[in-house]
Amino acid sequence: MSESAPDSGEGEARVRRRIGTRLALVCAGAAVALGVGALLLLEPVERATVARVASDQIGLLAEAVAATYQVAPPGQPEPPADGELPAAVPERVHRAEEILAQLTHAESVEWIDVLDHQGRVQRSTRPGRVGTQREVPRRMRDASVVEDELVVSYAMPFTQACQQCHAGQQDPVGVVQVAVARQVAQSAFTRFHLLYAGSLAVAFAMLAALVFFATNRMVARPVARLARLMRRAQQGDFLVRARVEGNDELGELSMAFNQMLRAITNLKASEIEREGALKSAQAQVAMKKQLEDAAERLQLSNTALQRRVQGQSLLMEAAHRLGSTLDKGALVERLARLVADNLGRSDFAVWLVRENEQGEPVLQVGYAAGALDRADVAAASYAVGEGVVGLVAETGAPVLVNDLADPPQHVRELRGKQLPIVTGSLLCAPMLHKGRVVGVLTFYATGARSFDSDDVALLQALGAQAAMAVVNADLYQQTLELSVTDALTGLMNRRALNRILDAELVRAQRFTTPLVVLMLDVDHFKQYNDRMGHLLGDEALRSVAQALGSSIRKVDAVARFGGEEFCVVLPRTDEVAGLDVAEKLLRAVRAIAVPGADGQPLGQLSISVGLAVYPDDMPPAIEGSPVDVLLNAADKAAYQAKQRGRDRVVLAADLSGRKRRPKLDEPSRPEKAKLPS
Ligand code: GH3
Ligand code: MG
Ligand code: MG
Repeated sequence: MSESAPDSGEGEARVRRRIGTRLALVCAGAAVALGVGALLLLEPVERATVARVASDQIGLLAEAVAATYQVAPPGQPEPPADGELPAAVPERVHRAEEILAQLTHAESVEWIDVLDHQGRVQRSTRPGRVGTQREVPRRMRDASVVEDELVVSYAMPFTQACQQCHAGQQDPVGVVQVAVARQVAQSAFTRFHLLYAGSLAVAFAMLAALVFFATNRMVARPVARLARLMRRAQQGDFLVRARVEGNDELGELSMAFNQMLRAITNLKASEIEREGALKSAQAQVAMKKQLEDAAERLQLSNTALQRRVQGQSLLMEAAHRLGSTLDKGALVERLARLVADNLGRSDFAVWLVRENEQGEPVLQVGYAAGALDRADVAAASYAVGEGVVGLVAETGAPVLVNDLADPPQHVRELRGKQLPIVTGSLLCAPMLHKGRVVGVLTFYATGARSFDSDDVALLQALGAQAAMAVVNADLYQQTLELSVTDALTGLMNRRALNRILDAELVRAQRFTTPLVVLMLDVDHFKQYNDRMGHLLGDEALRSVAQALGSSIRKVDAVARFGGEEFCVVLPRTDEVAGLDVAEKLLRAVRAIAVPGADGQPLGQLSISVGLAVYPDDMPPAIEGSPVDVLLNAADKAAYQAKQRGRDRVVLAADLSGRKRRPKLDEPSRPEKAKLPS
């Protein structure tokens, strides 16, 4: 199809011209060959024909001469004597002579001899030939070429009349021999020959023209048409068909051409089908690839989405879990559990900003797990700006070290100590709240490049939440520290009591007045809770507080020390007076009528009381604060009251072996004791 075919009309004409030219050449060649062949073949024919024609013509002549000489006058039956010709009728002889003379003058006749039946020349047109002996031919007519002459012999038979006279005699009465010059015969023949050859050539030319015409009509045109169709087929038109005209070779060729085109059409159709199938298969493959790509992208999106969802649920859970405790220790533990449960990351540490002894902020491990749960990590303490952890605390920005074995330049150049881990990857996210870093979350993985940007973002968000929880816990702690009232009972809290006790001790020291501290613990309160439930337990605690508060002076102080423990401070009160107050309190509690009080082991609510007094129960040299020493002494006495059966008061003096103060009418004035600073 690549080669552009010439115009079909031009092409057909050219084919026809070519075929016609070749046919014409072939016919012309055949005509020339036939002419030459005829000329060559005519040589032997020539001789026979010359002989024949001459013999025929001259035979007639001889016959005529013989007839002239066949003389047997009516009424003279006797035959002529031997060696003599029959006597001719004079007028006939004369006539014969005339004819002979005319013949002799004829151009074609060379000579004429008349022989008798024995071969003697009786008459001759040649001089000197009469009387000579010749051979008598056996046949009635004979022709032979002798020395370039054609000699025709004709035997003169007896006439009817003569036969009657010469009954039984069969020999001819004579022989006429006529010779014709061969050139003469030949020139005549040559004319004929040329005429013959020319006619032959013309005939062949006509035949050739006929053949050319017929061939052109029957062969060249159909062939050219077929060639045109072939060209169209070559150009891709496989739907053309050749006209089948007859059963000849051209018809067969046309049929074969049609079959070939049908086969090509089928082939083309199947090729188109195959191409279609191939294209559809290719399209399917491409679509499959697209689907696979889409599935892969979807998978990636799903994974990313899952991570986001996981991150969101982690953050929600963090908000829930971390927000539900205000205890910093519990908070850090919850944070650790959260990370382990939701992220599946087991190697991490929570660093919290604390103050060192110099009041400087340092980062210390609040919780460590997995690979970071090591003594050296736990013991490590980083100043802000020191090491990776300190850097995060300083900048408030996360630091990702993809490969600890080959950390980035800015990490390598960090001042101070580094984490005691040298391989794997590390991600440090700040616990940042309102621009303040309260801690650092450190995640570790043994493989390099284990964290990506999503991890950084997620752990940064988690760090922010954890920071908020830590800040809240700190705030709560501060609030607690600042509050003075116990929420359940309305009494002052331990911290407030500590302050009051501290102040009263200073005052007691300054004014050398005694001071009593009572530690009270509700007996078998756990059992009460168990039996009556916590709400009633709370109610009972409020009743105890009420009873205690209403049983003391205004200058005295009562506080809820913790749980079901209370503390009463009795300024300017000695041991004896204190003991009275204690017993009064015992009675007040016993009198509390709360549901289930009678179900207590002692049949009522009761308390055990420990009593310590300043300055008697304060050793001269103490460790720690004097408040704690006094409280500790009263607590030990209360414990002793428990040991001794509960619902009673025990003096610290009983435990230390100190002698009790005697009960006086006037309150005793204790000696001035020096409080340790
Ligand atoms: P005992 O002191 O006589 O040895 O026995 P106990 O049962 O009192 O012993 P313990 O001191 O071990 O138990 C104290 C109980 O006080 C445990 C706790 O249930 C209860 N308690 C502490 N604080 C509260 C509170 O605020 N409300 C209630 N309802 N119960 C409290
Ligand atoms: Mg207790
Ligand atoms: Mg108790």
